[in-house]
Amino acid sequence: MELLLADAEKAHGHLCAGQILGVRMAMLGCARLGIEEPRGRDRKRLVCFIEIDRCATDAIGVVTGCRVGKRALKLRDWGKMAATFVDLADGRALRIVATETSKQKARELYPEIENKNQQQMRAYREMPDADLFLEEWVAVRIDAKEFPGYKGERVACSQCGEGISYERWVERDGQRLCMGCAEPEARYYQPLASGDDVGRGDASAVGAQPAAVPVLVPRCECP
Ligand SMILES: [Zn+2]
Ligand SMILES: [Zn+2]
Repeated sequence: MELLLADAEKAHGHLCAGQILGVRMAMLGCARLGIEEPRGRDRKRLVCFIEIDRCATDAIGVVTGCRVGKRALKLRDWGKMAATFVDLADGRALRIVATETSKQKARELYPEIENKNQQQMRAYREMPDADLFLEEWVAVRIDAKEFPGYKGERVACSQCGEGISYERWVERDGQRLCMGCAEPEARYYQPLASGDDVGRGDASAVGAQPAAVPVLVPRCECP
């Protein structure tokens, strides 16, 4: 575990309670599925669904070797400290959730450590799995086009012309539209260009950049 924690620290930039929870959650998932070398011999067996985008997410990626870019790590942004480990070899899937009582237990174990993060880091290394996690075997249906090695058709959006992979298009009136054109209101971004002379694909015509907005956020929200 110490080696994995060192890897997690390197990948994430620091070691924190969330990292330790993530490392232990992933170790437990692999152990229950009988996956001994997730980053070696067994590297094509595992797909992880992770329900939170925080420190633990990186740690689970480090331990399992599952990466977003390999399509083996699926983020479901539900804000829950939970993940499901799917063994593609036999279809078994285990969902693991961090218990809500783990923080309280850490307090009881090390009341003398004032810093919450230090207290939890210490306790989460030592607490038994049963105090940290709840486990349940679940069924996960992974569509063929969601598999890591899926090779699909690539089409151009009928409206903006940008390429779309993995069938992430919407059919409307016989046209294939990208998500952005199909539902402009739901876009995570809105174009800033206002003038008529701003053309696509012409770098010199890209509108003036807006003034940078300072965003003050902590790098890590761990307690
Ligand atoms: Zn962290
Ligand atoms: Zn489009």
